[in-house]
Amino acid sequence: MHPKPPHESPPDAAAPRPIRASGSVPAAAPAPGHVWLVGAGPGDPDLITVRGLRALQAADVVFHDSLAAPELLDHCRPDALRIPVGKRAGRHSVPQEDIHVLLAAHARAGLAVVRLKGGDPFIFGRGGEEMEFLRAQGIPVTVVPGVTAASGCAAATGIPLTHRDLAAGVCLMTAHRQDGVRGLDWTSLAADRQRTLVFYMGLSQAGHVGTELLLHGLPGATPAALISQGATPRQKAVRCTLAGLARAARHGGLESPCLIVIGDVVALADPALAPWVEDPPQCGAGHSGEAPADRASGPAGTIAPGRNDRPAGRPLACPA
Ligand code: SAH
Repeated sequence: MHPKPPHESPPDAAAPRPIRASGSVPAAAPAPGHVWLVGAGPGDPDLITVRGLRALQAADVVFHDSLAAPELLDHCRPDALRIPVGKRAGRHSVPQEDIHVLLAAHARAGLAVVRLKGGDPFIFGRGGEEMEFLRAQGIPVTVVPGVTAASGCAAATGIPLTHRDLAAGVCLMTAHRQDGVRGLDWTSLAADRQRTLVFYMGLSQAGHVGTELLLHGLPGATPAALISQGATPRQKAVRCTLAGLARAARHGGLESPCLIVIGDVVALADPALAPWVEDPPQCGAGHSGEAPADRASGPAGTIAPGRNDRPAGRPLACPA
């Protein structure tokens, strides 16, 4: 019989164990006095992760955003507290500082706390600020990643954010910054044609985004899309060009939340996800006077939601 190799596990430790990064062992489920920052994914409630769903099912209290699908709350325990902290029609959101204090107070009271956030907690979700605050208070925090709006909307419209022939990278930006969008490095954003640009929180800033990119050299014919309420039954997606972006945002009948995607990959948006509405002839020939490129002059209109059982969006009327 051969001697046992030194690295072989003793028989009592033979059961497989999950491998964890040392020092960052997350609890299996929300524990008392612990906060879980959970990404809900965008729109469709099916887009939450298995881990996120388990956390939701186990929580004593759930602070939820307006961007998280309301159906997700059906998975909470019947006795769980559900506290809305997001902006809703006719009601302001709870100030961020108050959310910090609420999360900490409920964790200190010995509750298992879930903070349910739209998309991914660390992408424009202020999850970083919440984590910093709780860490500073000595409260344990676990982050459960989520499908971010860029991925969810791209999948729902058939726009691959990267592509070997068209885009070597993707850049996630916010068009809404504390110091204003004028703080962005437009030269660098416009310089790389091999990169897809995705702007979050951009509906009201679409004109400014379009103008700056045009001024900094991105061709007016670059394909662009606005995707409103992506991955929901109310999804509305409009394809235009960079030069036509401002007009499409103004007249597309789009609502928040809305994402702007700019780059050649937009030309690959899948018509099979929904039939394209007839191209309004003036859409895309923007105010810059640039003619749309061939690939960008395809049909512009509304991409209906990706599921057959959902109502189709209305076509974009693109007025002169
Ligand atoms: N943490 C979130 C982003 C929060 S910022 C995430 O990872 O997705 C809010 C912005 O996200 C919105 O203004 C919009 O630009 C975008 N967004 C979120 N959900 C969206 C959806 N279903 N459709 C389109 N855009 C969405």
